[in-house]
Amino acid sequence: MKKVYFDHSATTPVHPLVAEEIIPYITGKFGNPSSIHFLGREVKKEIENAREKVSRCIGAYPEEIVFTSGGTESINMAIKGAVYANRWKGNHIITSAVEHHAVLDTCKALTEEGFTLTVLPVDRYGMVILDALAEAITEQTILISIMHANNEVGTIQPVSDIGRLAREKGILFHTDAVQSMGKIPINVDDLQADLLTVSGHKFYAPKGIGVLYIRQDSNWQPVNHGGGQERRRRHGTENVSGIIALGKAMELVVSELKDESQRLARLRDKIIKGVLERIPYVHVNGHPTKRLPNLVNFTFEYVEGESLLFSLDMAGIAASSGSACTADSVDPSHVLLAMGIPTEIARGSLRLTLGRDNNDEDIEYLLDVLPPVMGRLRAMSPFFNETVIR
Ligand SMILES: *Cc1c(COP(=O)(O)O)cnc(C)c1O
Repeated sequence: MKKVYFDHSATTPVHPLVAEEIIPYITGKFGNPSSIHFLGREVKKEIENAREKVSRCIGAYPEEIVFTSGGTESINMAIKGAVYANRWKGNHIITSAVEHHAVLDTCKALTEEGFTLTVLPVDRYGMVILDALAEAITEQTILISIMHANNEVGTIQPVSDIGRLAREKGILFHTDAVQSMGKIPINVDDLQADLLTVSGHKFYAPKGIGVLYIRQDSNWQPVNHGGGQERRRRHGTENVSGIIALGKAMELVVSELKDESQRLARLRDKIIKGVLERIPYVHVNGHPTKRLPNLVNFTFEYVEGESLLFSLDMAGIAASSGSACTADSVDPSHVLLAMGIPTEIARGSLRLTLGRDNNDEDIEYLLDVLPPVMGRLRAMSPFFNETVIR
């Protein structure tokens, strides 16, 4: 049976060139980068080399790059480090209703420690409303955290405008750029970000490695303690092979970004066109133009997302109903609900996310499989039979 992977927003396979690059550091070069001797120096050099690659890719200085264990840790560090360091100034945090749970739940946890939180609403495209943000800012606001691109519907937020507003008011601005890395250009100055987070496994590096960018002279403090690594900003022995892999992977995706994003956008549009032609009662979610090139989110009426995923899985198609982190629960996506999509419709969501291994044949296979699957599932829905067929 043909197998097709349409879940690149959940994770990506390691790029073969990335795997090749790190083999020596898994099999032989095992030194601790903090060691004075030659084994330590040999790996320390490669960490600094990776740091330089990362800094070049996002328009930062190498000293502003901190390696972490992934997106979630970077986000926790960004948010907690910012609010703890600015507690003397105020206690108010602003975020949006469509953030990843790593952001939302970190912010919510901080309300238990005396911080107050505003969760901004979004419009029907999942876009943060700038006026609402401007209104939410108070004398007490110390941090704004708004994602660069949404992981469920692909909407790209007006991050530069948000960052500019934050800077004018002297408020730190963090952006979760986990989904945008490698798909759209990222430059920390253009985005006006003080803190920016990415995760290696979303762009063809292994799992368990991430980056936190911290603008120099930002009022930020570490949230863990230990051996002084990463310029005392993230203590603990470095994930040497992960760091080298991330540097290589970021360099690859950024160098191929222009061509690859065009190629993926064409494949995505082919999916959208094919689905709209073949299947009735379907909606395409997210912003019509300000969106990621590799992601499409549908809601199908009269069908459960869970049963749809199960049927696709049986046909060798790996997809998702939204964020992988909430796929275990049958609750409809918090992102779709925040966009005002009715609960019943939000339950029928399907997210397809493309990557470097996808091609036209994959899309044709999907377009062959999906209509009969949908027909079968809807035929079993009493609701569909009553409202549509009669
Ligand atoms: C995957 C993801 C994260 C979490 O990253 P991990 O490295 O898996 O912890 C955070 N934010 C967004 C938008 C994501 O897609």
